[in-house]
Amino acid sequence: MIRSYFWLPIIAAFFSFSCNNSQPQMPKLIITLVVDQMRPDLLTRFDDLYTGGFRWLIDHGIWFTDTHHEHSYTATGPGHFAIGSGQYPGRVGVIGNSFYDRDLQKNVNCVEDPNARVVGAEEGKARSYSRYNTTGLGDWVKSSFSNSKVISIGGKDRTAVLLGGKKPDLALYFNYAGRFISSDYYVDSLPDWANQFNTSLNADAYKDSLWTKSLSDDLYLKYAREDYYQGELDDYLSDDYSPVFPIGIDPKNNPKEYFMARPWFEREILNLAKEAVVNENLGVDSSPDLLFIGFSAMDWMIHDYGPFSQEIMDAFIKLDKYLGNFIEFLDKSVGLNNVQFVLTSDHGGLPLPEYVIEQGGIAGRINREHLKEAFEWIDEEVEEKFGKNFYDRSGGNFFLDLDRLKKADIDPRVIYDIVQNYLPKVEGIERMIYKEDIITSSATDKITHRLQNMIHPYKTPEIFPIVTKGYIYKSPYGTEHGSPYDYDTHVPLIFSHIHSQRFSNATPRATVDIAPTIAQILGVQIPEYCDGTAIQF
Ligand SMILES: [Zn+2]
Repeated sequence: MIRSYFWLPIIAAFFSFSCNNSQPQMPKLIITLVVDQMRPDLLTRFDDLYTGGFRWLIDHGIWFTDTHHEHSYTATGPGHFAIGSGQYPGRVGVIGNSFYDRDLQKNVNCVEDPNARVVGAEEGKARSYSRYNTTGLGDWVKSSFSNSKVISIGGKDRTAVLLGGKKPDLALYFNYAGRFISSDYYVDSLPDWANQFNTSLNADAYKDSLWTKSLSDDLYLKYAREDYYQGELDDYLSDDYSPVFPIGIDPKNNPKEYFMARPWFEREILNLAKEAVVNENLGVDSSPDLLFIGFSAMDWMIHDYGPFSQEIMDAFIKLDKYLGNFIEFLDKSVGLNNVQFVLTSDHGGLPLPEYVIEQGGIAGRINREHLKEAFEWIDEEVEEKFGKNFYDRSGGNFFLDLDRLKKADIDPRVIYDIVQNYLPKVEGIERMIYKEDIITSSATDKITHRLQNMIHPYKTPEIFPIVTKGYIYKSPYGTEHGSPYDYDTHVPLIFSHIHSQRFSNATPRATVDIAPTIAQILGVQIPEYCDGTAIQF
């Protein structure tokens, strides 16, 4: 069954009107900008300082201020899938960035494709959407408009692949070796413009670039904390711990890879996107085109320094400038009348635990040795009571061998009880979840709801942990995301268009609403299996 939405008159007011009649024009190009790990406060705290692209997007945007990812494992893969496909990641099986596959008995990457071949470079991994039997926004648009083009560009492979849907024209991602690549799942060879971009990129040259502040020192002290802060990573010339500006690429690190941990990477992503717009004629004809752009370097940087650092403030000031330049380019090439923008993120994140504690909150880093000890206690007790090989463990996830347990006449819940007895003794492990309890739960709290949206009935482990609010596994430096709590689920969602004015709307929204909303704007049918609801403006 197909649900269809056609845009209501009120939405029409959202778009441009041509000068000689009052017929609204449908946007010819929809650009979805996804900044990895962008908490909403990274836009609000620096609002006074933005003069470029964030300025334009905020001033011309309808901002849904209470938007969350409504799934519990807030990681890059599941987040981009929710945005690009309008579905919760659990049912479809996007249960992490990489995860233990109980059939293959090994860890797999969420966009791994053993049948695909890399295109565009010797080095890199072939990725695709082939693990998932569903479709995304790009496919819905293409089934309504056969001439529509869908291009997805990201730093990370899973970003580009999961935003793009099942069969975009192209998904391009970085190979951590100085080139943007794809796989033959999409194309047999890269288009000339992408090859030319790669040739001129010269990522090696970034080895001598120093990351310095864009604004005056006093502004950083006003809008962020002190530069030197215990808990930030220092990976540059670090004889003594000194996590301060300027930051270069340490001679021991490969500049072709570490380039992705610096703000310039985002500028290059936008340069690549410009090439796509020009050479693929995006936004020109009457079939709407989709361009997805994933800013993955931001995630790496926020992991290293935390969202309240001067480094991240500066990375956002720089991205504002790069985006400003990109929007100017679009104005000249496509005309902003024709472009609808969406700005969001794949997940939020925790500030550095040290910073949370300084602000009076509760936070911490989970002790790996304590975890290891707890795993040993569990293994010992299960073995003593029942014997070996009743589960495979991957991290804190227990994949039970249900057949073997059944044959031995052991109730799987007994294993759960043992795990639950030991692991929550580790500071930062809140509790162990028994999958079946969540599937059958009628509780209506948001954590249960988010857990339910993350569970795949078969692929998800039978027993898995959730952390205590404020705790992360990452240690001893940097920060993380991945929990079902609001600091990890809350993201910006802004729909911007040249004829819109700054407006904020506090109605709760989910990121699975993004794809159906864009579909509705374009008058495209929304499949029944879409979990989101099209937003009525
Ligand atoms: Zn991350």
